[in-house]
Amino acid sequence: MKKLIIATRNNGKVKEIKALLRPLSYDILSLGDLNIDIDIPEDGTTFEENAVKKAREICRLTGHLTLADDSGLEVFALNNAPGVHSARFAGEGASDEQNNRKLLTLMKNIQKEKRQARFRCCMALYYPEGKYITVEGICNGSIAFEPGGSNGFGYDPLFIVEGYDKTFAQLPSHVKDTISHRAKALQKLMHILAKEQEV
Ligand code: IMP
Repeated sequence: MKKLIIATRNNGKVKEIKALLRPLSYDILSLGDLNIDIDIPEDGTTFEENAVKKAREICRLTGHLTLADDSGLEVFALNNAPGVHSARFAGEGASDEQNNRKLLTLMKNIQKEKRQARFRCCMALYYPEGKYITVEGICNGSIAFEPGGSNGFGYDPLFIVEGYDKTFAQLPSHVKDTISHRAKALQKLMHILAKEQEV
């Protein structure tokens, strides 16, 4: 079975990506599975730059087809912050709770109609021969006034999904897996990955 490396140590992402790729027959390995513990600084100014950088470094290290995602939350009233800084919004090594608390504090005077936000995900698929493909997925919504639900990770308890009256953390994972920014990005890669597994 062909190997596909997922260039992340984020268990929330690994779980989601593995679930989305279940219809395919890859031997899917995350950095945790491979005991790879290198720090790739996410110093790009766009999700795409960071995704390509992570995919390239891990592909070179492992020699296998590699998928990397860089994703984050953009809040319109905060000039699209936290954006590429989503994981470390409240400081280097900040927990999800600390990041969520910072977001709620910054938004405490922002009314319901002005709390629109979106999750963005850029995925990069990097080939051992050096070529790569990038795709993007977007999920629209708004920021709640207080956390709700316990599923998922990151900002899920604060993100009310457009068309649902619930946060991502209140929706079952199989629902998030069909509508999320990550699911939408990965959908765009499925036909390429399906073809590639046969090569
Ligand atoms: P990175 O892509 O590893 O730089 O980190 C992305 C950060 O964005 C995560 O640590 C989360 O804080 C946030 N994020 C990305 N996708 C999601 C999601 O699906 N739910 C909640 N938070 C997310």
